[in-house]
Formats: sequence, C-alpha cells, structure tokens
Amino acid sequence: MINYLYQEQNWQSQLSDLITDPVELLNTLQLPESLLRGANLATASFKLRVPRAFVAKMHIGNPDDPLLLQVLPHHLELEEHPEFVTDPLGEEHANQQPGVLHKYKSRFLLTLTGACAVHCRYCFRRHFPYQDNLPKQQDWLNIKQYIESQPDINEVILSGGDPLTLSNRKLAEWIERLSSIKQLKFLRIHSRVPIVIPNRVDEQLISILKNSRLRIIVVIHSNHAAELDDFTCGKLNQLVEQKIVVLNQAVLLKGVNDSAQTLIDLSYRLFDAGVMPYYLHVLDKVKGAQHFDLDSSDIEQIYKDVLANLPGYLVPKLVREIAGENNKTPLFGTTNF
Ligand SMILES: *Cc1c(COP(=O)(O)O)cnc(C)c1O
Ligand code: SF4
Repeated sequence: MINYLYQEQNWQSQLSDLITDPVELLNTLQLPESLLRGANLATASFKLRVPRAFVAKMHIGNPDDPLLLQVLPHHLELEEHPEFVTDPLGEEHANQQPGVLHKYKSRFLLTLTGACAVHCRYCFRRHFPYQDNLPKQQDWLNIKQYIESQPDINEVILSGGDPLTLSNRKLAEWIERLSSIKQLKFLRIHSRVPIVIPNRVDEQLISILKNSRLRIIVVIHSNHAAELDDFTCGKLNQLVEQKIVVLNQAVLLKGVNDSAQTLIDLSYRLFDAGVMPYYLHVLDKVKGAQHFDLDSSDIEQIYKDVLANLPGYLVPKLVREIAGENNKTPLFGTTNF
C-alpha cells in the first residue's frame, strides 16, 4: 500500500494519528462494513487502536489478512467462556510497588506507561488496571530501595503498556536512573512499536541505548513475516549494528500464524533483520481472546513441524505462562528427560 508515506513522517505524529474507528479501518482496506458484525460493541471495553504504518502492511481487500485479524475488534470477544478470565495470570495482586511486577528471581517488569501504540485483541493485559499503578517521579526512590533490597535482581524489563510510546527524554531519564544502581547489569525493553511504527527507532533512541552503561536487550513482538517489510527490517538492523541484542517474541494465534510454514517464514525473516526468535507464547486464557485459541494437539503438531524444519537457533521456545511458576514454562520436547 502507500507505505512510503510513513517512512518520512516522524513517529510522534504517527502516534497521535492512529486509526481508532473500525469503519475507517475497513474503508482504508476497501473492505465492506458488513465485516463489523458487532465489532463496535467489542471496542467499548478495549478500543481499536492501530497506527497507519501498520495498516499499510496489510493487504487491500483481504478480510483474513493476518495483521488485520490481530487488531480488528470481533463480536466473539463479547462471548463468555468459563476458562477465559480477566486476570489469567493473577497479576493484579502481584504488584510490589507502583509499576513493579516482580515474579521471577533475577528480573522484574517495570511499567512506566499504560499506553500502547497498537491494541492487540489477544493481549492478556487488556483488562489490567494500569492507571492505578504507574510510578510517579517520587516513586523512584521506593523502586530503587526495592531493587537494592533484592540482591538477586540484575535486570529491569521496561514493559507494557509499551515503553517506546514514551518520549526519548522520559526514556533517557529512566535509563539514567536505573543505570545508577550498581547491581543492575541488563536493561530490557519489551516493545511492539518498532513493528507498528518503525520510525520510532530514530537516531536519538539509538544513541540513548548505545551509550548506556547497561547491556541493552530489545525484545520486539512480531507474529507474522508480513509485519517485517524491508523498511522495518532496516530499522531493526540499525539496532543490531550498535551491538544491541534484538530478540522477538510472538504469540501463537488461530487464523494469524497457526501453521508451521508461517512460523518458519517468520523466523527466517527475523534473521534477515539480525533478530533472533526468543519466545513463542501459547495464548493466555484472557477474556475476549477465546477465538484465537488453539487445541493443544494442534499446537504440538505445528511446533514439531517447526522444530523439524528450522535450524535450532531459529526455533523460538514454546512457552506458557503459568501463575505462580518461577519462569515461563516450556512446552513439548522437554518432558522426556
Ligand atoms: C515474562 C516475564 C519476565 C521475563 O521473563 P524471561 O523469561 O526472562 O524473558 C519477567 N517478569 C515477568 C513478570 C514476566 O511475565
Ligand atoms: S502490551 Fe503488547 S500485546 Fe498488549 S496491546 Fe500492547 S503492544 Fe499489543
């Protein structure tokens, strides 16, 4: 589509000019409004939000476009299902400090913003009460004290919301603060923004990351090779060239990437950009996402085919997050020892 438009426009104006109306999204893709089928009701609890640069990677006229399916509200989101709940990971009660979610030993999530550039319909945080829980300037000392009281922590993960919706100035301030804590070695940034607004990877961001004392790991979130056009791959590669480790996590989603070939293509495409596959997450059972769910026998077959067709270094770890576990739980192929 008119992709080149978004290669020139700065990321801030792209972020303030998102598509939020399902009808506009369908019109842009020349799809009939009949596809809405009650989708507007689904936006009442979780709005449509999608950057135009991401829409530009979708195919005109294809109602089953794998990128579109991730963002278009669906009437099935409104169905009740006993297994699919608002807080499948029990995170609401796991907060140690405002913004801090510490479940694993050496690392914890620090949420600096509740905002995302894109709303992914399957997201397990769609019901999370962020607004009550964001750290303010004055919380910094408490966060620092918390880290210093937990000598096992050597890594902070800036996570979602999406930390790359913050300005470079804000981000630099937080990175500076964190790097003053001696026990920290690593700083991880979990973000989908480089995929949906590739221009977010600007010179200032690269310079902030490459000049930090901390070892920086950027974990992007891409579910399909069609999200990784040449322009996006070029931006990711700029990070890699600065010796920033860039990894990808994907979520296995019915209708989006539930075939071995799709996942194989994704891994090779990531590798083109210098990005290593990290995790393939099984869907969290979050209310409103049941239409993305797959049978475990299908998951097993897909993953076995992925294993058989890719070199080991391009196979993402298939994991599920189980409340109360010490780490993400690996699935299949790990139970035989
Ligand atoms: C996923 C997650 C992490 C990061 O886990 P890694 O296996 O190190 O990628 C850390 N904290 C929480 C709460 C998480 O959900
Ligand atoms: S936290 Fe990640 S998966 Fe969830 S809506 Fe934001 S960008 Fe999408």
